[in-house]
Amino acid sequence: MPADPPSLLLIAALFVAAAAGWLLARYRSGARPDAASRQNSQQLSEDYFRGLGFLLDEEPDKALEVFLRMVDVDNDTVETHFALGYLYRRRGEVERAIRVHESIMSRSSLRDEHRVHAMFALGEDYFRAGLFDRAERLFLQLADGGGRHVAALRYLLRIYEQQRDWEQAIAVHRRLVAVASPEHPTAIAHYHCEIAEQLRAQGDFDGARQQLHSARDAQRNFPRGALIRADIALDMNQPELAALLCQRAVELHPKLLTLALPRVMRAMRGTDAVEIERRFRAWIRPDPVARAELAYAAIVAGLEQEPFVIECLPDLLREDPTLGEIVSATSGDPAHLTAEQRAALATALGRILRRTQRYRCVDCGFASASHFWQCPGCRSWDAFAPVALLDLTPGMHRR
Ligand SMILES: [Zn+2]
Repeated sequence: MPADPPSLLLIAALFVAAAAGWLLARYRSGARPDAASRQNSQQLSEDYFRGLGFLLDEEPDKALEVFLRMVDVDNDTVETHFALGYLYRRRGEVERAIRVHESIMSRSSLRDEHRVHAMFALGEDYFRAGLFDRAERLFLQLADGGGRHVAALRYLLRIYEQQRDWEQAIAVHRRLVAVASPEHPTAIAHYHCEIAEQLRAQGDFDGARQQLHSARDAQRNFPRGALIRADIALDMNQPELAALLCQRAVELHPKLLTLALPRVMRAMRGTDAVEIERRFRAWIRPDPVARAELAYAAIVAGLEQEPFVIECLPDLLREDPTLGEIVSATSGDPAHLTAEQRAALATALGRILRRTQRYRCVDCGFASASHFWQCPGCRSWDAFAPVALLDLTPGMHRR
């Protein structure tokens, strides 16, 4: 391991503290030392100087080994070891934190509270290091009555989400709800939807529908469930039903327009123009704000060449002052553009949006070109929304 000055400073401070404690203990004991304590003192001073040698040679791992051997873990010194482990983890030195916490765990004489603390800290280290199977083993023990079981259940949930083990995530979420309020109440409905999507991909529509029923039991009016039911309807050649389900999803959650529109277009594929016009009229409302939102969502979804986008584009230019000003400066009055100019503008906007992060998490600002039900940045569910037009720089986005 290369020399690491901050680590060396940290251990040096602990060596000084250990030496001070040792001297204080000798001073307090007062009486003349017997043969055993003299031998003990000699061993400690040898270790102390060896540790200092490693510090001077800038070898933090060897110095840490000496420190762990020198300051025996017992109920009086354990807090010092916890502090060392905590500092290592905070500085991102997870391997060293693991060594400290494993050294605490290896002692049999510790009080239960210290053992639980060490187990939990080691579980956190393993989780940070991506050693999920080891972390899972420790958190399962803690969740099964080993102490700190609510926090352990929360970690188990994170592990199963990372591993996309949705069955286990459902089981843990149920256990969590029984003892505490979950961080993301809608998460369990999403777990069922994840399984439903897997089953649908395998052609098991009955199994998928069963999972969607469970999702609905867990969360009434759940728009993702309506979208998956629309996908199943499309698979089963029921386009009218698919379009209705998409409409339902958008009514429940208007931000899902970008996900619903491509499905609606698929549902209308193969239908003649008059029929499309009749069916799609329900989506093109007279309200200019709604028409602007529809046009923008369609461009985000890559549908900028659809006739309804060209039709609604003047509303979008009116509702987005920056865009309207750019168009006025270059092409004249946005309300009187020719159909060709509108089509060219829609194509350009589509190109701009495809080059940028089109979705952003309203909780942490994580931006991405595609939609996620769970934010990869902060693990929030349902927090992804399309960015506002021309607000295309990464950063925090207002809710
Ligand atoms: Zn986020």
